[in-house]
Amino acid sequence: MKITKFGGSSCANAAQFKKVKSIISADNERQVVVVSAPGKRFAEDHKITDMLYLCHQLMEISLGGEEVFASIKERFMDIQHGLHLKIDLEPELDQVEQKLKTGASRDYTASRGEYFSAKLMAAYLGYEFIDAAEIIRFDQRGKYDEKATRDLVKERIKDCCFVVPGFYGAQEDGNIITFSRGGSDITGSILASALAAEKYENWTDVSGFLAADPSIVEDPIPLNTVTYDELRELSYMGAPVLHQEAIFPARQRGIPIHILNTNAPEDYGTLILPKAKRNSDDHIVTGIAGLKDFMIIDVEKYRMTEDVSFYRKLCSVFEANDIPIHHMPSSIDTISVIVREESIKGKERKILEEIDIYCSPDVIEITPGLSILAVVGENMAFRSGVSARVFGALADSDVNIRMISQGSSELNIIVGIANTDFERSIRAIYDEFFKVS
Ligand code: ASP
Repeated sequence: MKITKFGGSSCANAAQFKKVKSIISADNERQVVVVSAPGKRFAEDHKITDMLYLCHQLMEISLGGEEVFASIKERFMDIQHGLHLKIDLEPELDQVEQKLKTGASRDYTASRGEYFSAKLMAAYLGYEFIDAAEIIRFDQRGKYDEKATRDLVKERIKDCCFVVPGFYGAQEDGNIITFSRGGSDITGSILASALAAEKYENWTDVSGFLAADPSIVEDPIPLNTVTYDELRELSYMGAPVLHQEAIFPARQRGIPIHILNTNAPEDYGTLILPKAKRNSDDHIVTGIAGLKDFMIIDVEKYRMTEDVSFYRKLCSVFEANDIPIHHMPSSIDTISVIVREESIKGKERKILEEIDIYCSPDVIEITPGLSILAVVGENMAFRSGVSARVFGALADSDVNIRMISQGSSELNIIVGIANTDFERSIRAIYDEFFKVS
């Protein structure tokens, strides 16, 4: 059996619902369907989830919100009428509006996009609707509860065929909790894992991953297969398409994830596997991704390595201030702590003072405006000359490298460069490894 998840653009209107139906009917193993809330129908349009958040905000401060809710309702009614469905969502939409007016939670409000989308999809496909609140469990502290969810899913989802709303679940008392934005991908992966599905198909509006960001590199090659590890690196470093948390549940059971395009279902897409079968003539590098706006905190202390508690004390400053550390390259008497600018914003002075007190360094320096690039590929391991080509390509483009890091798995080479060199660097590395001269 396959779990199929359709993203917001695949559920944006009646025409998109029709494409979903033809995809589902083309393969009778597509027995469990997870849907997002309707997304944008055209570039200037709004996603239903964004409108629901806005609605909640406005109603909370009694600043209206009725107009926004009316547009949301209209979107769902348009789909219902466009598909000539026998069900009528109007009374339930009106009830939800009343609930929002009397102070429904933010998560409950946001979850209604997926809820109504799934109700419509179930009616259209002739599948049974299962509310995610019944099967996706969060514990009392609001953390996702994997064990309880697995039991509930196995108990509830038997035989064929079901539609489940993505993005949310509930605590035992019924209180709705959502995952982070884009979280319907996580729901699909959780169901695939709990049901030991043969495949998790994630249908979106692009034909899978590309070797680099198409807004930076012209016509980058598509990636037919990537491994979970490569995908983790690429999506962590900013390659969009799949929610980064969605990898873990499928990976636990080795379930392949297939990224496919609802608007071009014949395209191969990207297949994500535990291990890729690679030939020696395949590209050495699988993909290049990167993120802007990091900050380097350089800490220098003479004979730092002889102080056994130095690293612990330095890290504890970041831990106490709830700032995740992304990289920590070091040399003999200096260490650089690399963090996202947004996570340290407003706390810079406090951090410097605390490092001064706990670690008594000789020098501390802060440099903003750093970008991190990851050159990723399992084929790079145990091969000489790959980093030389990365650094050579950057040198030829006059890019100064501020930081270098390579994990022992040799799955990636990470370089830190100035924000202003970001696009140029990605193009230079792409050309080096993918352009046939
Ligand atoms: N509708 C939610 C969002 O826009 C979740 C999802 O689409 O995956 O973030």
